[in-house]
Amino acid sequence: MNNISILNSVLLLTKKLIRIKSISPIDNGCQDILIDRLNKLGFVIQLVPSKSASNFIARHGIKEPTLAFLGHTDIVGPGNICNWYFNPFNPTIYNGMLYGRGSVDMKGSLSAMIIATEYFLKYHPRHFGTLLFLVTSDEEANATDGTIKIVNKLTSIKQKINYCIIGEPSSIYKLGDNIKNGRRGSLSCNLTIYSRQKHVAYSSILDNPIYQVMNIINQISEIIKNLNLSSVMIPPTTFQVINIITDNSYINTTPKKITIQLNFRFNYKLKISFIKKKIEFLINKYNLHYQINWILSSNAFISYTGELLNIVKDAINFYQGINPSINNNGGTSDGRFINELGAQIIELGLVNKTIHQENECVSITDLQQLVKIYYRIMKNILT
Ligand SMILES: [Zn+2]
Repeated sequence: MNNISILNSVLLLTKKLIRIKSISPIDNGCQDILIDRLNKLGFVIQLVPSKSASNFIARHGIKEPTLAFLGHTDIVGPGNICNWYFNPFNPTIYNGMLYGRGSVDMKGSLSAMIIATEYFLKYHPRHFGTLLFLVTSDEEANATDGTIKIVNKLTSIKQKINYCIIGEPSSIYKLGDNIKNGRRGSLSCNLTIYSRQKHVAYSSILDNPIYQVMNIINQISEIIKNLNLSSVMIPPTTFQVINIITDNSYINTTPKKITIQLNFRFNYKLKISFIKKKIEFLINKYNLHYQINWILSSNAFISYTGELLNIVKDAINFYQGINPSINNNGGTSDGRFINELGAQIIELGLVNKTIHQENECVSITDLQQLVKIYYRIMKNILT
């Protein structure tokens, strides 16, 4: 494989994708470009659209082992365009970096997967096993019509996956310095406390639900701190107060109603029922008139990645000369859906320093190296 031609091919495809405003979940034709490339390589394509989201499964081969590449074509909005050095939808190379929305998250890695596959099939047309592409346009927003629909389809056609590489930007400073094999889950809670409106001059702290909420928040903080269930691979459970809203618009009364919105990021060692029980028990001690709603946005997961971990480490080490760490921090990922299929999962992608920010950019050398890393992983599993 020649570096210059790898670089040219991966840049060309990444730029093509960046030019398309595929703000989640509207794909706007990105997937047509990928499908066209995969079709030419002999992949069998199955479209799995759902509401406004576009999804597809592309398959090459029928036997095991099955290696899947998972990615998304949707992007987050560009923010304030005036703050970008270059138009976020007009990909521009400056000082070795390619600027554009989605360059890192994750049109760059998707392009690297496609180019690596083109090379791989050129040199190994009769490979072992099966190569899959699982691509969605609903990852950045709700993720209710994306990978979950692909997983449902895979289950219905009994398609097994042994190994899955997700192109999410897992690297921190240098390409390949970090990979992920799990994520924390996300649980939200809306707690509304009803009280009696009182004149400030004739009320005590006990009448004011703001003080009750302050105590509750402090005590939840203590509970979460004492859970101590972190592991080397998964950061500890944390919680944040997202909002405190009262119905009060006067300066001389206490509020009648207060709502607090909380979010818990929990690791896989913690049962959701345990958090709920602890917190409801705490609130009940206050003898309040309240209403509580729990919303589970995503479950925590950890994937046990025996062989795949070694294969990925070898590929990173071979081309980057480093050993990746495994730090599963950050938000959730579509790996949580794939995990249901029992696959070994690793997130391996570009440097995440500028993702979801103005001036998102990727090193063009990293794009080239990522093609080679993905290629080596494919070669190790499928030949
Ligand atoms: Zn992403």
